[in-house]
Amino acid sequence: MLDDDLAYPVRVSDLKQWVYCARVFFYQHCLPDVRPTTFKMEAGKAAGRSEVGREERRSLRVYGIAAGQREFDVPLRSARWGLRGEVDMVITVEGTGEVIPVDYKLSRIAGAHFQLQVAVYGLLLEEMRGVSVRRGFLYEIPLRRAEEIAIDARLRRQTERAVAAMQAIIANETMPEPVKNRHKCVTCEFRRFCNDVL
Ligand code: SF4
Repeated sequence: MLDDDLAYPVRVSDLKQWVYCARVFFYQHCLPDVRPTTFKMEAGKAAGRSEVGREERRSLRVYGIAAGQREFDVPLRSARWGLRGEVDMVITVEGTGEVIPVDYKLSRIAGAHFQLQVAVYGLLLEEMRGVSVRRGFLYEIPLRRAEEIAIDARLRRQTERAVAAMQAIIANETMPEPVKNRHKCVTCEFRRFCNDVL
């Protein structure tokens, strides 16, 4: 196991699996060799990389910001949360110094996990840079549109609960209950491990 896996066992990208079904997250961490990298995962990474070039050429107006500094592919770590990730872009607004995480999305559908991911990036930036982060953006690549996400008290609580529950699963290696919406199981790649769902 790599040092990063030990010190920061939860990845920000794990939130997607967590929201889909807690068991998927469990299988990925407790049976880490069973899941291949999918075409979709690789396509998402490649789209993010090519978006950086376009982002550098466009103004910050799409975010409603007149001027600011942009950093790309910023690695983030939290000892407090045992969490690691890499945010696509961080904007530091000229004049106010406001720090804003931006996550690129290939999908046109804004799933619940996307908001959690932006909130987590905000919490990590707060911890690492000692700033207050009150909003972030999801940039939808197909629509070339930025959606502002308020990192408010509700989203913070939701995010902190999710990360704490993920940490507990890794620490205790306890298999969570199956997902309530069993339609999800029909196309789940881990279905062969779940003998109690179909
Ligand atoms: S088969 Fe169903 S319960 Fe099992 S991991 Fe997949 S979605 Fe979750």
